[in-house]
Amino acid sequence: METIQFLPITDWGIGIKERPFLISGPCSAESEEQVINIAHQLKDQGVKVFRAGIWKPRTHPNGFEGVGEKGLAWLRKVKQETGMLIATEVANQRHAYEALKHGVDILWIGARTTANPFAMQEIANTIAGADVIVFVKNPVNPDLELWIGAVERIHQAGISRIGAIHRGFSTYEKSAYRNDPLWQLPIELKRRLPTLPILVDPSHICGHRDLKRVSQKAMDLNYDGLIIEVHHDPDNALSDAKQQITPFALAELIHGLKLRKVNADDEQFIHTLETLRQKIDKYDEELLDLLEQRMEVSKTIGLYKKQNNVTILQPSRWDEIITKIRQKGAERNLSTDLIDRMFTAIHQESINKQMAVMNNGVTLPSTNQGKSDDNH
Ligand code: PEP
Ligand code: MN
Repeated sequence: METIQFLPITDWGIGIKERPFLISGPCSAESEEQVINIAHQLKDQGVKVFRAGIWKPRTHPNGFEGVGEKGLAWLRKVKQETGMLIATEVANQRHAYEALKHGVDILWIGARTTANPFAMQEIANTIAGADVIVFVKNPVNPDLELWIGAVERIHQAGISRIGAIHRGFSTYEKSAYRNDPLWQLPIELKRRLPTLPILVDPSHICGHRDLKRVSQKAMDLNYDGLIIEVHHDPDNALSDAKQQITPFALAELIHGLKLRKVNADDEQFIHTLETLRQKIDKYDEELLDLLEQRMEVSKTIGLYKKQNNVTILQPSRWDEIITKIRQKGAERNLSTDLIDRMFTAIHQESINKQMAVMNNGVTLPSTNQGKSDDNH
């Protein structure tokens, strides 16, 4: 499929001229007073887009599930009083319909909804052709295709101003994050849809108030902006109390961000960078050659195992390899994480190659240097 072309935020006609684009406001609209109060504080700081959740997806029943439709009138009041654009989450047809009816400028699709193609299509059909901006959060599970598919559904509904929001992914294991950022997914999203604007949601990634590192990292990866939960009294917020920050803390955070240029036009810089990149390309090439050779050896081993009627997987051998490699990796300043992930993948590929040899009656290549036929 041809890569979809998206409009940059600076062409959305909402007066945004530079990075970072910022959406901010409480996790949930709680009362008219709370909404208006926070909105004015943010407006005074120059924030142009106000967020508040009206319908809240909660894991357990009987919690605060949002104020519902009446909150949309409060958002409209924010727009009238401050001139800010207003944004809220929609998770089904009715939400989308009500939000458009109340003049909500920006809709975002929550992580649980992106993971649900039925709900996505229902929303896309409801907003088809509307003059609205839509952000699609990553799905709760690390599935890039679901994320892209959701963006495609919105695009096919004739919406031209679309962005993605990276809010991190659920993991079974406990981690330092509420939702693990798994940066490789948004990076791959950018490779697949290079013009799609992307914001980071450090609030839902971190799950606590120290948002600096994640925010800065996103800026260093050239994200277009941030969506951050702000509350006038975070400790007493009705949802996500642990991660909401005050308007004052938001100002500090944003002013502390370093915005590096995407490209420097200085000639010396470009030349040096080019030389370094060529080095990297050369090493990558060598890595590929080595991997190819390693897999050839694996196939030969597979054949010997077959001839001698030995199983492919020999756990003690794998244990021996990984222990040795970790140690050697550490001596070379390579993290255990890299070593583990890389060698687990290489080992798996080796096993696959050996399996193929075992099950397909392949014969040894005539010389050990020669390439064996892969098309069996
Ligand atoms: C939110 O933005 O308040 C929210 C519920 O987000 P997510 O869908 O990322 O959990
Ligand atoms: Mn929230």
